[in-house]
Amino acid sequence: MARYTGAVCRLCRREGQKLFLKGDRCYTDKCAADRRPYPPGQHGQGRAKTSEYGTQLREKQKAKRYYGILESQFRGYFDMAIKKKGKTGENMLAILETRLDNTIYRLGFAMSRAEARQLVLHGHFLVNGRRVNIPSFLVKPGMIISLNEKSRSLDKFKSVIEANSFRQPPKWLEYDANALVAKVSSVPMREDIDMPIEEQLIVEFYSK
Ligand code: SF4
Repeated sequence: MARYTGAVCRLCRREGQKLFLKGDRCYTDKCAADRRPYPPGQHGQGRAKTSEYGTQLREKQKAKRYYGILESQFRGYFDMAIKKKGKTGENMLAILETRLDNTIYRLGFAMSRAEARQLVLHGHFLVNGRRVNIPSFLVKPGMIISLNEKSRSLDKFKSVIEANSFRQPPKWLEYDANALVAKVSSVPMREDIDMPIEEQLIVEFYSK
């Protein structure tokens, strides 16, 4: 699946908030969104448009960028969410949260979703005992996610394991930090997803 390969700090500046796309750097004073808190480009410091459409568009773009996915796949998640019972916006966020790359990020194995995506692509994780190297794989309640035995001795994971207090896993994941195994205990509820996204605006955007 294709992915965005341009300058990521530019995306944060465009959305007017930190999206934490670069891992460690996001927590330092080198963060471009902190240093230049205005949109990128020649007219970045000009008057901002605030139309209803513009607000909805920006919310949709922000969500896509948080999760590191492109339009066609994002739209596909929206279509999946419509078919489920309940609120479409919340369904969509729950689907996004259960992507395997996001799950790995939530468990604290990576400093950013982009890094988590790379780790999944390189086959470092098992789902129900089988290697899964598809970042968009959707985990479901009852599934067991674990770090591949062969990967446990890698320096990358040694340091991650030591620094694992960096991020608390969300309620929908039961994580055993000693065994490096997590169980998906439930579908993520909206209150478990700490993303500053107004999902209703995205629903309105696609419902026009
Ligand atoms: Fe965004 Fe991180 Fe770059 Fe700051 S350092 S602008 S939070 S990606």
